[in-house]
Amino acid sequence: MIASGEPLTIAARVAAVRSRLPASVTLVAVSKLQPQEAIREAYAAGQRHFGENYAQEWRAKADALADLPDLTWHFVGGLQTNKVKYLAPRAAWVHTLDREELARELAKRFSAVGATVRVLVEVNLGGEQQKSGCAPERVEPLVALARQLPGLEVAGLMCIPPPDEAPRPHFARLRALRDQLGLRELSMGMSADWPIAVEEGATLIRLGTAIFGSRG
Ligand SMILES: *Cc1c(COP(=O)(O)O)cnc(C)c1O
Repeated sequence: MIASGEPLTIAARVAAVRSRLPASVTLVAVSKLQPQEAIREAYAAGQRHFGENYAQEWRAKADALADLPDLTWHFVGGLQTNKVKYLAPRAAWVHTLDREELARELAKRFSAVGATVRVLVEVNLGGEQQKSGCAPERVEPLVALARQLPGLEVAGLMCIPPPDEAPRPHFARLRALRDQLGLRELSMGMSADWPIAVEEGATLIRLGTAIFGSRG
């Protein structure tokens, strides 16, 4: 939550986070529900990685912002299989691979246009019933399958800890699972908990409100 009258600009917020971030950690600015002007402002401040949650909203923004070179798009939202077609070829990363059917569809759509997408397997560490994410014991077979498919590069793991629990043990568990699988990337940490995620080895953090303020 950002207090009304919050004086910081997007550029100041980007700079404030960057000053605390090791160079090895990529800041993904999650711009869902933000207007393209906000993305342009962050871009002007040097931000290059942006994350979106809704496939059609993202596609419209990607078209509107196609003039910005080196802007790298990450898709971080829950993904219905029938929306994958909007993502290829311009989404460079998908953080929310959680099932075989989705891996096959991503492979089909990206390889059809000669592109490769980096994927992270979203792990449901909390065992929450309603939540997306792959159960921990299903991660290894999903990674093995995805590694066989064209158009996919399996880069690492992602998690969103249950909001009512301390995040650190979840982050540590994700890192252990990542190490066990011999993967590189760890997408973990949001506005409320990113310093803890960085301490636990995050390589990608996903910040929305800490960069853009409230989503209204
Ligand atoms: C919205 C969202 C974020 C950013 O959340 P904030 O709390 O605003 O930083 C990060 N990751 C995912 C998957 C999201 O949906």
